[in-house]
Amino acid sequence: MARLVLKFGGTSVAGITEIENAAAKVATEDGRGHKVAVVVSAMAGVTNQLVEYCRSISPLHDAREYDAVVSTGENVTSGLMAMALQKRGIQARSWQGWQVPVMCSDMHGKARILEIRTSDMEERMESGEVAVMAGFQGVSPRNRVTTIGRGGGDTSAVALAAALKADRCDIYTDVDGVYTTDPRIVPQARKLSKVSYEEMLEMSSLGAKVLQSRSVEMAMKHGVPVQVLSTFAEPVGSDLPGTLVTKEEDIMEQQLVNGVTYSKDEAKVTLVKVPDKPGIAASIFGPLADGNINVDMIVQNTSADGKTTDMTFTVPHADMQKALEILKNSPELKGTEIRNDEKVVKVSVVGIGMRSHAGVAQTMFRALAEKGINIQVISTSEIKVSVLISSEYTELAVRALHSAYGLEKHQKLA
Ligand code: ADP
Ligand code: ASP
Ligand code: MG
Repeated sequence: MARLVLKFGGTSVAGITEIENAAAKVATEDGRGHKVAVVVSAMAGVTNQLVEYCRSISPLHDAREYDAVVSTGENVTSGLMAMALQKRGIQARSWQGWQVPVMCSDMHGKARILEIRTSDMEERMESGEVAVMAGFQGVSPRNRVTTIGRGGGDTSAVALAAALKADRCDIYTDVDGVYTTDPRIVPQARKLSKVSYEEMLEMSSLGAKVLQSRSVEMAMKHGVPVQVLSTFAEPVGSDLPGTLVTKEEDIMEQQLVNGVTYSKDEAKVTLVKVPDKPGIAASIFGPLADGNINVDMIVQNTSADGKTTDMTFTVPHADMQKALEILKNSPELKGTEIRNDEKVVKVSVVGIGMRSHAGVAQTMFRALAEKGINIQVISTSEIKVSVLISSEYTELAVRALHSAYGLEKHQKLA
């Protein structure tokens, strides 16, 4: 008998039929004698609608009130899920974030989970109750409701699994596992049977939204095995039909490249004729960091005249205007032309096998060149290569890379 956390995402609880279907999965695991906690998202589309309400009152709304509003979608589904379980004769109780409590930092809108105090919940679970927790939400040290960032239901589930010392966290969603790339863009994408925490972390951070990257970070830190599987297929999690995200040691055969991802959350800034002198990078990136703007890819050219150079970097889309304001006000950049481009996408290839093999980047560059796609910026780490290209080529590039690394051809992965 295992202790399990089952998380159902937005499409898995999109309406009453879906909630009843999800409750049937919970009932099967409960019937097999497992101790079960459930984490639910809001119904598909509801959080977007709530965010839109806030924006239409004021684009500069109070973040505490934003949280008070956008957290409510999960309140509805947690109550409905508990009812659907009760209808099946299962003892079940809903838990909102503050009731557990899920203790969070007070960074409203993107709070961090600090601790989940599960003693009350565990007592009830021991007495045979299924706990249904509202994902995405918690409570701040000042007793205000917080939310933990879009897609945060995954992180709530993994954090609860870590706090409960669960044997596994099953993430039920609308695809039956983690694929070599987004199956909605490349129909030939192949499902991975296992993927390491490290690769999954890179894939999520680089755009694969199937798991929120913080959930993978947390799973890796606490050693929680996570399985991604479909809500709409027959098997339940304990049949292990999905993709297991686990320790690298548990994966026998390591591929050179396991995933291709894309992220449209980038905007490019180019500074033309920056003074080429020591300290200039610090004077550009220091104020951006002070403004809480994460700079991602950076290239600086060598200067032709020994006096000025060009510099290009990317920032999150949402922060571009703020970044431009900061740069325009920089005394160091008087006389520097500032250009920006939002029509860019970061495409990346990820694989732990890269550590011990050369030539991975070369395959990428050649495949893109063959399609006539120009690379604007490149960045690499031990297990990934990313390029920035024009966003009009997103699908073409993802498909070309997927095929260049032969990802659809391998029959078996791990
Ligand atoms: P949920 O609402 O259940 O949290 P999400 O929409 O957040 O679901 O995540 C599931 C989606 O992630 C899939 O529908 C799929 O389009 C997308 N996705 C992107 N990259 C991948 C990938 N590599 N493998 C599987 N799904 C992916
Ligand atoms: N409902 C939240 C969102 O849409 C959290 C989640 O679904 O994971 O971002
Ligand atoms: Mg999600």
